[in-house]
Amino acid sequence: MTENAPPLLNARRVRKSFGGVEVLKGISLTVDAGQVMCLLGPSGSGKSTFLRCINHLERIDGGRISVNGELVGYAQRHNRIFEMNRREVARQRRGIGMVFQRFNLFPHMTALENITVAPIGVRKLPKEGALARGKELLDRVGLADLAQSYPAQLSGGQQQRVAIARALAMDPKLLLFDEPTSALDPELVGEVLDVMRTLAAEGMTMIVVTHEIGFARGAADEVVFMDGGVVVESGPPSQVLDDPQHARTRAFLDSVM
Ligand code: ADP
Ligand code: MG
Repeated sequence: MTENAPPLLNARRVRKSFGGVEVLKGISLTVDAGQVMCLLGPSGSGKSTFLRCINHLERIDGGRISVNGELVGYAQRHNRIFEMNRREVARQRRGIGMVFQRFNLFPHMTALENITVAPIGVRKLPKEGALARGKELLDRVGLADLAQSYPAQLSGGQQQRVAIARALAMDPKLLLFDEPTSALDPELVGEVLDVMRTLAAEGMTMIVVTHEIGFARGAADEVVFMDGGVVVESGPPSQVLDDPQHARTRAFLDSVM
């Protein structure tokens, strides 16, 4: 990473309203390549909305977001800024993986098919290569033996690991996780966090919305606390988690720890 490299994610004064209610009130954040940011905050603070804006699942009302130096949703041609067409948006979105609280696997497809359907159908990779890579990814998330299983035959933790492998299959530059362990039985949380820790150690750039303070402490380069659509404070985990400066951060940490 050279000193002049732009951040992989650069969000500046991002605003978003729903029906006249502003839920993001000027969010500015950066994430450098290879870094892990954990986003904490009470329910309704705008965390999911912010992730959805990065991925262009929501259109922002103000500010700008760029990923890898490219504006999200806008293209520059002849020194003018244009809204991207659907095809350009789809291409851009392919570089950003997302893992949801509910794993959202296709129920009628095996684990391996879930992972390879987009690489074959969207990226147009040759089937043989995509299958080989899909098996490799299943192995990476510890599920090599379950390639032919259907989601209903897998535990929640296994399904979430398939969902992570599916996101990786598109070779994303950035991985977004929206409370990836919140829907899991407590005994299944660890196996998913382990996979995420491995990805982080391998240098994947990640933004993780989570209430797992232990994960944030160990894996995050930066912790951001959001409340009411604003960033209340941010910094290294040791600072934000162990010595928070704001009463709202302290109250939130007390409620989840
Ligand atoms: P968090 O993920 O931090 O719990 P969200 O981003 O889901 O917060 O929601 C922030 C606020 O925006 C909430 O008040 C929520 O009700 C509202 N909101 C989110 N999505 C929509 C939507 N599609 N339409 C209307 N309101 C929404
Ligand atoms: Mg949410």
